[in-house]
Amino acid sequence: MSSLEDFISQNGWEKLLDIMVEEGKRRNAPVLTLKEYLTEPFQHLVFAILSARTRDEQTVKAAKRLIEVADTPEKLASLPVEEIEKLISNAGFYRNKAKNLKAMAEILVKNHSSKVPDDFNQLTELPGVGRKTANVVLSYAFNKNTIAVDTHVHRISNRLGFVKTKYPIETERELERIVPVKYWRRLNRAMVAFGQTVCKPLKPLCQECPLGVFCPKIGV
Ligand code: SF4
Repeated sequence: MSSLEDFISQNGWEKLLDIMVEEGKRRNAPVLTLKEYLTEPFQHLVFAILSARTRDEQTVKAAKRLIEVADTPEKLASLPVEEIEKLISNAGFYRNKAKNLKAMAEILVKNHSSKVPDDFNQLTELPGVGRKTANVVLSYAFNKNTIAVDTHVHRISNRLGFVKTKYPIETERELERIVPVKYWRRLNRAMVAFGQTVCKPLKPLCQECPLGVFCPKIGV
């Protein structure tokens, strides 16, 4: 067996994603510890907004502090921006995020009966919510078949040669084409766990990687 294509045709996507998750588990990937913190769609949405350009450990801290004070859209909408800033000050771009979070909560209260919508277009109309954030919420909070392409998914898909793309939107489209729909939801968490621990952005651990023998290591 010589290529990743052969590996997938013989073992399937499930096996590949299993390997990524197992590596992430073995090496304590932060993303795999999130489940206990995220139980409601509103928490998923708050977490996803906070996570942009912020490490998961810091996002968890900020989200926990904020959700302890404001676990509903009404409570979040009623907080002054300065207080939200203080609660999430360890997150990247916290001033912008505080403004967006408050505005997002106000819109949920006013236009969506204080519920997080399960619709891509309605989600992306909310402040601070782009494609990736909307897909994360749809996938994890509402069990919809979407591929949330963040920096890990984009990088790893290119290194492994599944796609040859410059922008995450292109990666999303290509992955939708080549990955069977039943694996779309699993793909984000598996690649994030793998990207946090093995196929890291700057120094990927190719020598220790269980996919090393098949991986073309494009751009590494
Ligand atoms: S061999 Fe290197 S580039 Fe390929 S998946 Fe593993 S860590 Fe990433």
